[in-house]
Amino acid sequence: METRLLKGAPVRDAVFAELKAKVARARRRPGLAVILAGDDPASGVYVSHKEKGCDEVGFHHVTHRLPADTTQAALLDLVAQLNDDPAIDGILVQLPLPRGIDQEAVLLAVDPLKDVDGFHPANLGRLVAGNPRFVPCTPKGIIRLLRHYDLPTAGRRVAVVGRSVIVGRPVSLLLSLKGAFGDATVTMCHSATRDLAAVTSACDVVIAALGVPRALGAAHIAPGAVVVDVGINRIADPARPTGERLVGDVDETAVRGRAGALTPVPGGVGPMTIAMLLENTWEAYARVEGLNA
Ligand code: NDP
Repeated sequence: METRLLKGAPVRDAVFAELKAKVARARRRPGLAVILAGDDPASGVYVSHKEKGCDEVGFHHVTHRLPADTTQAALLDLVAQLNDDPAIDGILVQLPLPRGIDQEAVLLAVDPLKDVDGFHPANLGRLVAGNPRFVPCTPKGIIRLLRHYDLPTAGRRVAVVGRSVIVGRPVSLLLSLKGAFGDATVTMCHSATRDLAAVTSACDVVIAALGVPRALGAAHIAPGAVVVDVGINRIADPARPTGERLVGDVDETAVRGRAGALTPVPGGVGPMTIAMLLENTWEAYARVEGLNA
């Protein structure tokens, strides 16, 4: 069976083009503030991609870089300032925060109307209640990708492997909402799931977000299933000049030719996350300006 590759770039490009056109007609530029505390190299890379995305669509953006020994009080002060800043529509606190900082307290301090990452309990609560406002970016991107490639989930059995608040749990909730790209029968799996392969191989769609390189192989995937690989893992690769490469949570070689469709790593879900962050920022801006998003 030929496995269809579900690439994120064309979908991201379409979202960017739409946002760019909206910004061109806007009264002012939507603004995104990013807080980057500490010196985690991966976080630095993610933040630079976000800055680049803002430049591409024409958003105003500011990155606040704080040292690793920043205090909780300093962080909370900065969040309070950004909450009050009318040029800032969206606030993103890049995770993980340095040790010793109470992450929950910082996320809770962000104005829920500027919480474009969707991690504030008020926004997560709305998602649980079936009335979402800001939806976390990676889960929203997964649904958008399925929509773009016309792979509805209604009536399908979907296994989500992982239950983090960033990916697994919110995507499970989204898939259980009403609608053609919801209405799924969702099984949320985690490290205590018994016989994971038996569960996932009985599903029409498998969403892998466990953070274990190439953990899911042919035995986990039913022939023809749609596989969304959220994983981004760095593994050693002496053949590469950098000495490493990115792989997903799915063993692509084992699953190609078996799955009906598969998101590549890199280049599948990854590009969607930034696109959805910018879309959420536009939605925050549109709310302030009284526009239809
Ligand atoms: P977390 O480490 O926060 O969560 C991993 C989840 O997977 C946990 O719920 C854990 O279970 C479960 N799990 C771990 N091992 C197994 C196993 N062997 N079998 C079944 N379940 C398991 O990870 P994240 O959700 O933050 O990220 C998941 C992956 O997605 C990572 O590779 C990350 O890099 C990537 N990612 C990609 C993004 C993108 O833009 N493409 C964005 C965000 C993340 P338990 O709860 O029991 O511990």
